[in-house]
Amino acid sequence: MNSFSFFDRDLLKANLKSSPPDLLVIGGGITGAGIALDAATRGIRVGLVEKHDFAFGTSSRSTKLIHGGLRYLKQLEFALVKEVGSERAVVHRLAPYLVIPEKMLLPLSEGKSMGYWLTSLGLKVYDILAGVTDEDKRRMLSRPETLRTEPLLKAQGIKGGALYAEYRTDDARLTTEILKAAARHGAVLLNYSSVVGFEKKEGKITGAVVRDERSGEEYVVPTNVVVNASGPWVDDIRTTDGSKQGSTLHLTKGVHIVVPLHKLPIRQSIYFEVSDGRMVFAIPRGQVTYIGTTDTDYVGKQEQVRAERADVEYLVQAVNENFTITPLSTSDVIATWAGLRPLIHEDGKSASELSRKDEIFVSDSGLISIAGGKLTGYRKMAERVVDQVIETFFLDRILGDCVTDRVLLGHHFSGYKDFLQFRKQVGDRSGSDAELQGQLFRLADTYGPACMEIINAAAGNGLTSDSLLESEIVYSIRNEMVTGLSDFFVRRTGMLYFDPAGLEKMLPSAKRIFSRLLNWSTDEISSQERIVRSEMDDACQF
Ligand code: FAD
Repeated sequence: MNSFSFFDRDLLKANLKSSPPDLLVIGGGITGAGIALDAATRGIRVGLVEKHDFAFGTSSRSTKLIHGGLRYLKQLEFALVKEVGSERAVVHRLAPYLVIPEKMLLPLSEGKSMGYWLTSLGLKVYDILAGVTDEDKRRMLSRPETLRTEPLLKAQGIKGGALYAEYRTDDARLTTEILKAAARHGAVLLNYSSVVGFEKKEGKITGAVVRDERSGEEYVVPTNVVVNASGPWVDDIRTTDGSKQGSTLHLTKGVHIVVPLHKLPIRQSIYFEVSDGRMVFAIPRGQVTYIGTTDTDYVGKQEQVRAERADVEYLVQAVNENFTITPLSTSDVIATWAGLRPLIHEDGKSASELSRKDEIFVSDSGLISIAGGKLTGYRKMAERVVDQVIETFFLDRILGDCVTDRVLLGHHFSGYKDFLQFRKQVGDRSGSDAELQGQLFRLADTYGPACMEIINAAAGNGLTSDSLLESEIVYSIRNEMVTGLSDFFVRRTGMLYFDPAGLEKMLPSAKRIFSRLLNWSTDEISSQERIVRSEMDDACQF
């Protein structure tokens, strides 16, 4: 059945038990989503289970860039730069409303590690490796040009700069759109369902024990092909399988902070060097600017990762060192997020020296685990994993080659300009109501062309903030497997991070709408509110 509706959850679960999939994917982050789509479009029957909500892990906590990883050039990771650099244009074409072009300014200063000529050469190599076309090629800037491009940069020591092309996205939305495409191709996808064990015969996996985290029910999904795409949890699943040996994960924590745009009103994204030699991004998005990231070793429970005061102070200091603004203070920070990089451990290497390359491990039980990698490279990683699955398990079946470079992610736009025209038409429906226009733009940016389904459904009752919110919630339950307040406000709309005040304003109406649609009891309403409030505390208190 082709559904990604919460209303079909029980049917989907029954389907997973009664018609076992050829392949079960563990983990609903970008890696698992990419694998599910790749496999489903090659004709493999796929199931995917996610312990929390989709994109709960690193895939909602990244810098949200589809980028070539300029700094990996410094580490001489040419193959990685070539792959992710080339993928940028592909992922942009697949979702031009969600992966949008963003020029990055790289200021170059006296006494910092990036020299002018070496950077110019490095960016040229970057362009060549990634096959960047004319208007997107890097442009070196003189000192006056750099300061004109970003007047807020501290002028002292600036020698010049470079402008190069990257793309900005929303990681959790990208994951959701890939999952929606996988569901359209028949994949069965369940959130709040964790793998807690394996059934085996003669040492080989014959099934996965899945726990429904909502009801507590445990059931077996019979399959001998299981891919472990659980990101920072990869080693936990390998431990459950009894196959954790050889390479292991090294988790590093990365924190971002969000400030109102007027506190750091930069004109475009900037990638700047901090006094300790690390590179940090500042990225404007709507009415905020976000800044990150840190890179420190992490030990502890993956679910408990959060920004500490020292992380926030480091990023505030990084901004104050580099920009002529009324100095930021920690009280200007309206939200934070912290994510874990699931990197492969290498003896003697520090957090920032570890490679971002992905690696596939196949255990004696048949479990295929994938670790490392980047959001940007999700499609190529998925292709490699599915090739491996076919080679290991399905050699006797004729299955097609990877086609995901042609599977559009929920749109029919000819390109970004086409989307901008669509977005303008959507905004025009607000008449002269600026608040309504803001809401319509948010819907277009979040859902792309699917926003029309939300707007048309709301139009019957007159377009108001309340009617739009109601039809947005209905849409997200029916089409994006939203189960409650936290899924909606944190991972489908990103409001927790980018508009916490808007979230607070919408919360009472959202609570009312959800309870009516999903028949929540008083206890359920309290529990839903408690969960979302605790995520708000994690994001806003440090
Ligand atoms: P996750 O997103 O963590 O997904 C794994 C999922 O498995 C989780 O949702 C988890 O709940 C689930 N799971 C765990 N255990 C079980 C179980 N037993 N049963 C079922 N499910 C389970 N990359 C870029 O390309 N661009 C960037 O700008 C960028 N910035 C980054 C910034 C930071 C701070 C960090 C930390 C990473 C960044 N990355 C970036 C890298 C990128 O975000 C990650 O490589 C990617 O998100 C990892 O996705 P994943 O699906 O492998 O892991």
